[in-house]
Amino acid sequence: NSAEEIPVTAELLRSMPLPQPDDDGDKETRGRVLVVAGSVPVPGGALLAGIGALRAGAGKLQIATAASIAPHLGLALPEALVAGLPETAEGGIAAESAEALAQRASRCDTVLIGPGMMDEAAVAELTADLLMRLEPVDGPAGGGPRFVLDAGALAGLGRDPGPVRRHAGHVVITPHAGEMAALLGCSREQVEADPLAAARQVAVQLKAVVVLKGSCTRIVMPEGRAWAYRGGTVGLATSGSGDTLAGIVAGLLARGASPEQAAIWGVYLHGEAGNRLSRRIGPLGFLARELLAEIPAAMAALA
Ligand code: AMP
Ligand code: MG
Repeated sequence: NSAEEIPVTAELLRSMPLPQPDDDGDKETRGRVLVVAGSVPVPGGALLAGIGALRAGAGKLQIATAASIAPHLGLALPEALVAGLPETAEGGIAAESAEALAQRASRCDTVLIGPGMMDEAAVAELTADLLMRLEPVDGPAGGGPRFVLDAGALAGLGRDPGPVRRHAGHVVITPHAGEMAALLGCSREQVEADPLAAARQVAVQLKAVVVLKGSCTRIVMPEGRAWAYRGGTVGLATSGSGDTLAGIVAGLLARGASPEQAAIWGVYLHGEAGNRLSRRIGPLGFLARELLAEIPAAMAALA
């Protein structure tokens, strides 16, 4: 099966360079990202993802999160506009926020949903509602944002693929094996027995770019093309690591990368950030937040 996967290497990335801004471009030209993330128990997911988007070069960042943590996030991340939304009893964003969120999202280039969102039922409802309210990129009124769905936002997709399929070709999803298993309604062992087949099945079902994360991360397109990245390091398996990856992919999308390119570049840059920290401070014990400051140099090394 691995013969069907294209290895993700520095050479591959150099053959598909990221869009570069004009020297006189302003922040609007490098894209607006909306990160819908965080909950009272896990506010930091929003922080890690938001910084990831900026470190990948996005121009402007908004975070939408549960009201009681919004002021704290605003101080922790002074670069962002932070909007507080009505909360569920568990401290997540209430599903009835979809209408207000859709208005905000319609003015953004990329919307990331999911990091640090714990309240599964509310997140599933909110995600589906938001996807239904927003115009697809190729829609008649000029087009809505593109999406990255991670963590909490993945839970409901298996039950109802319709809202994601509406945005066919403009959504990247970033599950690990456990989230993939939940999506498919099978066991984690079954996903791990043939990860490429699992990723392909979901890519077709959702018409989305699937990033199936692990020690080998696969990137699979709906029409079947697949890439594999094996260049990371075990230290990347740490709390919050996936939140940073989701933010990086969202930032690259906002800059104008295609979903395929943003997924491939994001996975590589995230892995390289881990390799840099591994060499400099040691193979285990670096923090997810420390990955983020490595991204600009890892990106510049490929220019
Ligand atoms: P998450 O589970 O969402 O925090 O994401 C974990 C991140 O760490 C993903 O990007 C994985 O690809 C990466 N990762 C997990 N385990 C390994 C490993 N053994 N080697 C390299 N990367 C890993
Ligand atoms: Mg995760």
